[in-house]
Amino acid sequence: MNFSLSEEQTLIQQSAKRIAESELAPLAEKLDQQGDRSAFLNNLKILAENGFMGVNISEQYGGTNADTVSFSLALTELGRACASTAVTTSVTNMVAEVIQSVGNEAQRSRYLPKICSGDYAAGGFCLTESGAGSDPSAMRCSAEKTNDGWEINGAKQYITSAEFAGVFVVWAVTDKNASKGKGISCFLVEANNPGLSVSKAEKKMGQHGSTTNEVVFDKCLMNDAALLGELNKGFKIAVGELAGGRIGVGSLALGIGLAAIDYARAYTKERQQFGQAISNFQGLQWMLADTYTELEAAKLLLLQAAYLKDQGLPFGKAASMAKVFSTEAANKACYTALQLMGGAGYLSEYPLERYARDARITTIYEGTSEIQRVIIARELLSEISN
Ligand SMILES: Cc1cc2nc3c(=O)[nH]c(=O)nc-3n(C[C@H](O)[C@H](O)[C@H](O)COP(=O)(O)OP(=O)(O)OC[C@H]3O[C@@H](n4cnc5c(N)ncnc54)[C@H](O)[C@@H]3O)c2cc1C
Repeated sequence: MNFSLSEEQTLIQQSAKRIAESELAPLAEKLDQQGDRSAFLNNLKILAENGFMGVNISEQYGGTNADTVSFSLALTELGRACASTAVTTSVTNMVAEVIQSVGNEAQRSRYLPKICSGDYAAGGFCLTESGAGSDPSAMRCSAEKTNDGWEINGAKQYITSAEFAGVFVVWAVTDKNASKGKGISCFLVEANNPGLSVSKAEKKMGQHGSTTNEVVFDKCLMNDAALLGELNKGFKIAVGELAGGRIGVGSLALGIGLAAIDYARAYTKERQQFGQAISNFQGLQWMLADTYTELEAAKLLLLQAAYLKDQGLPFGKAASMAKVFSTEAANKACYTALQLMGGAGYLSEYPLERYARDARITTIYEGTSEIQRVIIARELLSEISN
């Protein structure tokens, strides 16, 4: 077993770190406080220019053609600096990946170069609905066959950066009589389709830079070429893509947790109480030791899931284990880091309260912690034959 990174993985990690520190970090507070859309779009543009909007996409379509390990390392660096930018990068990579893996040649060459180059600032992933969150197979959004294509009606909620997306991957029911999860198909809908509208951004607790919108489909007409993958086989595509996306979300959560604990660790060396640096107190040293140990374990689980995916091996259980562990460890790290800083941790003057708010959603989106445990347990139990 070789734990060292390849030259390419190291280069990608270093490049992400450099951009995160020089471009994203200085604007993160402004994005959080003011939700500055032009600054956010500029972040996305810089990332596209540096190959981070198609990390796993073939060079033929303008992608970086790197592996999932590189993607995970990059997302952690971006998450350290700006979680809002990192989540949009993660979702956009997911959209590109689903097009590359199940799209036909015409769809790949039409959309992938625009996503990878930043021509489209982002991609939208439209699965969740008001009545279909943890259980997306309960979706109501439907696509009816027309003479020369499809008509989509319905609404998707909580869609990351829908305002900035050039193309949406949309799941809709195409066979109302099929059993649950069977009659669902996947479509590619362009943002300028007159039947698609994006509602105003939701107000939320954290990750303020990345908008979260409802996307409404009202007699949204598309030609036959919009169908992505096989008819009525779309739910399987969603399940597969979500597993990959979980590596992205877990990795960016790890970045937030590391940023929080690194900040607090430095603070404990500076802050004096009882005539000495508070880092001298063993109680605080153990908090640091436990937090860094857990984040290291999170990193290893993430890299293992990424490695399995890169080898073409089953990785669903590993991705769920990595997601649940890293997002919960990141939240715990933010809580501990804030505690280590005492009252200062609670003030907006320091970044700790932003890290804590930004980390909170990571145990919810891309499948909640409870759903990850459902997936892990289901697979564990299925391994035992009766
Ligand atoms: C900021 C943000 C960005 C998002 N971005 C996107 C996006 O880009 N695209 C997209 O499609 N979706 C997106 N989502 C949606 C997100 O994936 C869902 O919110 C998430 O999957 C949970 O669904 P829900 O909110 O409907 O919660 P619910 O499903 O209503 O869950 C409520 C509670 O019940 C628990 N629960 C549900 N079922 C079970 C079960 N079987 N066993 C145990 N516990 C269970 C859950 O874990 C949770 O604690 C986003 C959400 C947010 C808030």
